[in-house]
Amino acid sequence: MTMNKFNVERSRCETRGCGNHIHFNNAGASLMPAPVCDALHGYTKQEEMEGGYEVMNKQAEPLENFYRAAAKLLNCGTDEIAFCDSASRAWASAFYALPLRAGDRVLVGNAEYGSNLVALLQQTKRVGIELVRVPDAESGQIDTAALETLIDNRVMLICLTHIPSGNGLVNPAAEVGRIARSHGIPYLLDACQSLGQLPVDVEEIGCDLLCGTGRKYLRGPRGTGLLYVRKQWLETLEPALLNHHAATLTGANAYQLRGDARRFEFWERNCAGQVALGVAIDYALSWGLPAVEDRVKSLAKQLRQQLRDINGIQVTDRGREQCGIVTFFAEQKPAEQLQQQLFQQRIHTSLVDFSANPFLVDQYHWPKLLRASLHYYNTLEELEYFLEVLNTALIRN
Ligand SMILES: *Cc1c(COP(=O)(O)O)cnc(C)c1O
Repeated sequence: MTMNKFNVERSRCETRGCGNHIHFNNAGASLMPAPVCDALHGYTKQEEMEGGYEVMNKQAEPLENFYRAAAKLLNCGTDEIAFCDSASRAWASAFYALPLRAGDRVLVGNAEYGSNLVALLQQTKRVGIELVRVPDAESGQIDTAALETLIDNRVMLICLTHIPSGNGLVNPAAEVGRIARSHGIPYLLDACQSLGQLPVDVEEIGCDLLCGTGRKYLRGPRGTGLLYVRKQWLETLEPALLNHHAATLTGANAYQLRGDARRFEFWERNCAGQVALGVAIDYALSWGLPAVEDRVKSLAKQLRQQLRDINGIQVTDRGREQCGIVTFFAEQKPAEQLQQQLFQQRIHTSLVDFSANPFLVDQYHWPKLLRASLHYYNTLEELEYFLEVLNTALIRN
């Protein structure tokens, strides 16, 4: 891993917000790069001057570009992509479309996102599905051997969060995919934190359904996200909520569902956001995801090492593979206070709430954690300043 190959200077020139503060909250919402924000503003400005429907017709090509960019990012077909307003919406659209019945079992990893868990729990009550937690291996990543032993003919779905919201862990998504495939079980991957941070190839991973959000490592605008649905599932998955974009009325009493993943969309949408998300994905691809991954991982590795040298700090990141999300707590001071003191020195971090990854927090009895989530435009100088401020905050009241 070399740090100097990445053109950090250019990435900072194209990130207008990065001079004002140190933004270590990229897992919450990254700073949009200039081309993304310009696309967003440009489109909205046109709507102001010309009207929403007129601009939609005129900008059909940039709107369509979102699907092409997303398909390139994930290595899938454009017809397998739906535009959504968030990752949670995308996840739920896929999940509630699955024909799960009483007694069906759903295997779920320990790092599952809280929002997904709420939906899963609702269906245990409403439908009578059975939720089965797959234990972690020693390293903290999903125990794929245990996963394999939990599979029987009642298992109708495997859910995995690739990278949890509140931990540096990267789950072995492709290993889970091989198991899911060999048993013909649908596999729903939450790739919310991995899109834009490392390469995510649905063929390599072998997932059938995948959700992602725009505003995190992809550096797109808020209120945007995407859903991937493997073609073979499109024929059997009927969205729980239909509308006349997802299906065409063929008469007063009949409709025909769309054949592509857009059957999971509604007609009305944030058009400026869709265009800008397309630009954000193209922008991420222009850096190259393997290069982004290297850069982000090496910055985070450096930060973890330096944090471990501070008395009273415990780094809580798990897993054999770790990403740009760094989580920790200090024995001396609650994370809330540290976060505030850092914020006063213009350093943005976030807190890991119980609901981010409830199983993980529950299992390891962590207090509230502080999360520093790094992106490629962050620098070693920023890390240094962060550690300096943190050290001072630890001693001061
Ligand atoms: C942030 C996050 C989500 C939810 O994304 P939204 O776009 O806010 O719905 C889902 N899963 C993970 C792992 C996340 O970090």
